[in-house]
Parts: sequence; structure tokens; C-alpha cells
Amino acid sequence: MRARRMFHPERPQADLLIRGAHVLDPRSELDGPHDILIRAGHIAELGAAGALAASPDAITIDATGKHAFPAFFDPHVHLRTPGHEYKETIDTGTAAAAAGGFCGVIAMPNTDPVVDDASILRSLTEMAGREAHVPVGFLAAITRGLRGAELTEMADLRDAGALGFTDDGKPLTSAGMLRKAIQYQRLTGGVVALHEEDPALSGDGVMHEGAVSARLGLAGIPSVSESTMIARDAALARFEDARMHFQHLSCAESVEALEAAKAAGILVSGEASPHHLTLTDDVVRTLDSRFKMNPPLRRERDRKALVQALKSGVIDCVATDHAPHARHEKEVPFEQAPMGTTGLETAFAALYTELVLTGELELDLVIRRMTDGAALFDLPTPTIVPGELANICLVDLGAEFEVGADGYVSRSENCCFHGRTLHGRVLLTLAAGAVAFGEPALAATVLLGAR
Ligand SMILES: [Zn+2]
Ligand SMILES: [Zn+2]
Repeated sequence: MRARRMFHPERPQADLLIRGAHVLDPRSELDGPHDILIRAGHIAELGAAGALAASPDAITIDATGKHAFPAFFDPHVHLRTPGHEYKETIDTGTAAAAAGGFCGVIAMPNTDPVVDDASILRSLTEMAGREAHVPVGFLAAITRGLRGAELTEMADLRDAGALGFTDDGKPLTSAGMLRKAIQYQRLTGGVVALHEEDPALSGDGVMHEGAVSARLGLAGIPSVSESTMIARDAALARFEDARMHFQHLSCAESVEALEAAKAAGILVSGEASPHHLTLTDDVVRTLDSRFKMNPPLRRERDRKALVQALKSGVIDCVATDHAPHARHEKEVPFEQAPMGTTGLETAFAALYTELVLTGELELDLVIRRMTDGAALFDLPTPTIVPGELANICLVDLGAEFEVGADGYVSRSENCCFHGRTLHGRVLLTLAAGAVAFGEPALAATVLLGAR
């Protein structure tokens, strides 16, 4: 029996006619104005703009001048439950995902308690079945308590619905432990995802080790702390013929290590975050703790290498590493603040504003990489094709907004793009056939059913 891996409540399936949107889906090669008719949550028909008629009980949205994309997929978020519900919950975190145009997210297990036991995982999947706004998948811990000393019962966790395994938040320093994990992975299936960092090199670092950390007198985390672990673990993946996913790549040396591994035919993949793709350690000069995350923001040459790797496919997908923290935790001196930035609500707009509008990347490439994470975890890729479940986001590329000016949907506000003016506002998100988010003016129509 195939275990269920994505969890959400049954929500009313949408009956909508999205009229005249510029539909851009790199996979179905759509790039132009179309009508999209959605019936009972499925894409019933695609037609030339203005060609389709709504059935009597369908709501029509005039989307002329707006863009419709396959909704995004985020393989790396922290929903903070159980244990840290004051930062985020499945309810608030998936509402933030929907507001950002996402139709699916994968939650990390570094909660309190850690998701290292099937009973804890089952309580989470049940919770997601009650309160998730978009489907949620879960990674379980590789080692008990993320302590790196003892493997979890990986088979039980897979049976309980785990998409894969990670000790994210902490590196798996023991190569022997990782070797055992990937040997088990062959039996259990699922992806092993790794937060790559050598604590002996990171030390007490609070930002990237370089000119800016030297100027500020702050302890740094060198790039090799990440890249040497990627090289080590890729060698293990090769030795065991295993599949491995590297989380939140931050530097040029890591890109080189991943590229070399892929060139050697090793089954590895990688992700990069909107913040690493658009910001550098230069912003840390402000000592604003919103810019403190792990791995840290690095140099411009690292940022450029990540963008280039995203373009070439060496980096497979975008992942936000959405990491909420409460205001009282972040509003302390930079050195003491916890690592992490939120990112679900700003991911598309940040990439569109900082990479597409500047000419560094094409829009269709960004859409592709914001949806490519699903397949890495053996999930269907969101795509706009008749017959498919509706996973669509409607975006106004012309709309600009100041991040945080209207607050956040997330329970936390530690967003590294706070105060920036970004372009590309998400108006509507359909996830698994249901309306998961509608911006206020639209919500009245699509959620309340007004005609
Ligand atoms: Zn991490
Ligand atoms: Zn993370």
C-alpha cells in the first residue's frame, strides 16, 4: 500500500473561470493570454482569452493584465509545531505559504519534541489534516533528538507518512551515521536531505567570514564549513549509490562541489533560498538581526554563483527555509539573536524584483525552479494542464508593495526583506483544487461566493 505523504483537510473544490490571464507554465509551454476554466477543483478547459463561458454556478475573475503560474512548491519550511507555536503553527505557516503563491510545503522536524518518532509524526499529519491551508509534507529526523548518535526508526516513520529524513538545523557530523542512514534509505525509500556545515569550522560564527565580519569584529562562518561537507557526503552517496539532497546552498564552493558530484553521475540535488540568491553580507553592516541566518548571507561572487547554478540546473530548485522567530527573540544584539528569516510571503516577489526585473534571470526559469522541488520528493509537479488538479497562483506583476507594511500572514515578522519595495503581488492561490488564498478584494468574490 502506498502511504499518504501530503496532508490537508478536504476543502470545497473551486468552480472558477479565470478570464484572460497571461498563463505562463514552462512545462506545458503556455505563454500567453488564456481563459482557465476550473470545475470541481480541476482544470477543465484552457481556451483563448475571452473564449470560454462560465457555467452558471462558477465565479468569473477578470484577470486581464495579470499572470497565472503553476503554484509554487517549497521543500523546506519550519512550521515550529510542536513546541514553538508562539513562532508559527501549521495554520499560520501554511496560510503564509498560500499568501506567497505556494500550493505545497515540506516541514522540517527540528521541533520540540523533535519529529523522531512515528507517534509524533502521526499527530502532526492529523493536525495538518485539520488545519493546513495548503498540503503539507513532513521530513522526519535522521537521528534521535537530532543528536547525531542514534538512527530513528526510519521504516516506521516512512509508514507514518514521512517524505524523507533530515536533521536540519544541525549538520550530521558523523560520516558513519550518515552512511548507516543512506543504507537504510535504500530499504525505506524517501529522500535524505542535509544541512551541510562542519561545526569545527563554523565555531561560534554569527555571519559569513570575510571582509564585513572583519570590519564588524564579528566571528565568521567560512564558506568551506559548508562545501567540504557537501564534498564528503557526495562521496558517501557515490560509495553507497544513494540519493541525497543538499539544503540551502550558500556559496560558490558548494556549487562547485555539487556540480562535480552531478558530473560524476551521483544522485544528488540542491536547493537555494531567495535570500541567498538576492542578498549579500553587505546588508549585515546594519546589524539588523533579520539578516542573521544559517547558512549566512555571503559575498557577491557567491550570490552570482548561486544564480548561475539555478539557471544551469546545478541547483535544482528554490526553497525558502522559512524560519520564523518571535520579535522578543530577534530584538536583541546581533550576536545573540537566533538564526533564521521568514520567506514564504516574499519568495516570488523577491526573486522577480531582484533577479527578473534586473535581467539576471528569465521569468519562466524562476517559475520552473519554484516548482521543481516537488519532483525531488517524488511528488507531482504543479502544472497548468486540463485534467490536472488546480494548483495555480494569480499574480499582478505590476503591483508593488512594501514588505511588512500591512503586517504578515505568518505569526512571525523576522523577514529579511522587511521594508523593501518589491514587485509582483500574489492575488489568488489555488492549492489541491481549493482556494487557499485570495487578496482582500478578490477574497470577497472567491471565498464568499459573491458574483
Ligand atoms: Zn538548515
Ligand atoms: Zn531549515
